[in-house]
Amino acid sequence: MTRLVILGKQGAGKGTQCVLLAAHYHIPHISTGDMLRAAVAQGSELGLEAKAIMDAGNLVSDELILGIVRDRLSQPDAQKGFLLDGFPRTETQAEGLLELLSPNSIDLAIDIRVPDDVVTARMLERGRTDDTPEAIARRLELYRAETAPLLDFFEVKCHFADVNGLGSESEVQGRIVAEIDGLK
Ligand code: AMP
Repeated sequence: MTRLVILGKQGAGKGTQCVLLAAHYHIPHISTGDMLRAAVAQGSELGLEAKAIMDAGNLVSDELILGIVRDRLSQPDAQKGFLLDGFPRTETQAEGLLELLSPNSIDLAIDIRVPDDVVTARMLERGRTDDTPEAIARRLELYRAETAPLLDFFEVKCHFADVNGLGSESEVQGRIVAEIDGLK
């Protein structure tokens, strides 16, 4: 059983690392950003509601996010473990997650650390529709205000590790795998 939360700023490499880790540990990669983008592409009611919020770099409501995560975690493939990417992003979401999992919990929360100037350059290069300079600045501001406090939250509530997110994809993956395997 491997229930993992991957934390870090946008552009820290969470998505890339989660794809590699999902293949390595045979557990599903659950990205709330990917689920929201799929809803936007489908033009569903949820997508319509989320699009403007995402384009501005703001956070979709905790209630909506907890609803989609609850549905996703109830799927059969998530029963043997999962990698959460881009969730939780607020303390309400983190508390909601632990409530959903109770009496189980998260095995390890990992923070991928990358300085602001590096993530900003990476996001500008990525060129997603929500990667405008204004939206990037807003996301970093929200990260500091809402998401960074979760590092302490997970340090208290479960196992927590931080890894250096600079270097090649495989170097960063090696650091993360060492932390996960170190738990066993
Ligand atoms: P990401 O793919 O994780 O960079 O997310 C893209 C956008 O989706 C974010 O900027 C938010 O607008 C929204 N989003 C994704 N995950 C969450 C979440 N856990 N809580 C609130 N908004 C989210």
